[in-house]
Amino acid sequence: MNYIVGIDIGGTKVAIGIVGEDGKLYHHTKIATDLSISPKEMIHRLSEAINHLVKTSGISFEQVLGIGIGAPGPLDSKRGIITCPPNLPNWHNVEIVCMLEELYQIPVRLENDCNAATLAEKWIGASQNNDYFVYVTISTGIGAGIFADGRLISGKSGNAGDIGHIMMDPTYGTCTCGQNGCFEWIASGTAIARQGSEILGQSVTAEEVFTLYRNKDPRVQDLINNIFTVIGAGCTTIVNAFDPEKVVIGGGVSKVGEPLFQAVRSYVQTHALSPSGRETEIVTSGLDHHSGTIGAAALLLQDKGALDEISVH
Ligand SMILES: [Zn+2]
Repeated sequence: MNYIVGIDIGGTKVAIGIVGEDGKLYHHTKIATDLSISPKEMIHRLSEAINHLVKTSGISFEQVLGIGIGAPGPLDSKRGIITCPPNLPNWHNVEIVCMLEELYQIPVRLENDCNAATLAEKWIGASQNNDYFVYVTISTGIGAGIFADGRLISGKSGNAGDIGHIMMDPTYGTCTCGQNGCFEWIASGTAIARQGSEILGQSVTAEEVFTLYRNKDPRVQDLINNIFTVIGAGCTTIVNAFDPEKVVIGGGVSKVGEPLFQAVRSYVQTHALSPSGRETEIVTSGLDHHSGTIGAAALLLQDKGALDEISVH
C-alpha cells in the first residue's frame, strides 16, 4: 500500500501522521510549534520529525505519494505559501511547499486547516456520501469549507469559505477585521465569552456561559438564543448560496449540542429560500482529534481524483 504524510500546523503544535490510501492513520507524532525560531528552522525540525516517523514506521520513502499540509490562514494554497496567519506571527510569506518539495522530491500540497478538515469530513467523517456539503467550524473564530461537484472549492488563492466575516448585523460593533457586525464577531466562542463577560460583569469563558444557559440562568438566555438565531441565519445564507445536501457544524461551540442544532434546523426550515434548501440536513461533525492530519493527507488524493473511490464507506 502507498501512504501520504499529513501535517497539521497549529499555533502550539505540529501534528504529523502517516496516512494510508485507505484513510487510516498508521503512525503519528507531534512537535511543539516554536515561535521563537525562524520558520526555516521550524521546517527543518519538521523534516527531521518526518524522517524519524517514516524510518520508525517500517515503510520506505518510495511508498510515500506526497505530503499534505493544513495550516492556519490567510495563505496562498495555489502558490504554496503561508502568507500572514495571526496564529503564527513570524510566518510571513513562507514558501513551505517549495521547501518541502525540494527536500523530498515528491508532490506537496497546502490548504487552510478548515479546508483540510472539510476533506476529512468527506473521507472519514459525516459527509462520506455527499457530493455537496459545507463544513462550518465555530470555535475561537468561524470558518467554512465548501465541497461541491465532488471537490473542495478553495478559491483563487485558497481562502474561500471565510464566512466568519460576512456581515450579520452592522449595529454590533467593529470586528477584528475592521468591518462592523461580522458573523464571527457575534457568534464565535470568543464573541460568546466577550458578551457573556459584559452581561455578568466578570470574565467568563464561552463554556461557562453555556453552563449558565443550561442551568436556565435568566441573565444569559437572551444572549444565547440570539446567538443561535445568528448561527441559524449564517447557515441559511450558506444554504441559499451553495445549495448543499448537508451543513456539518464542528468546533468547540458545536459541543453545546442539541439546543444549538434544534435552533439552527428550525431557522433553516423556516427561512431558506428554496423548498429543498429548507430540508437541508444540519448535522454534527464526524471527526476526531486526528482529522487535521488525515484531512491534510486527503489533499493529495483529491489531486488524483481518488477521494471518492477510496472514501471509507
Ligand atoms: Zn470581520
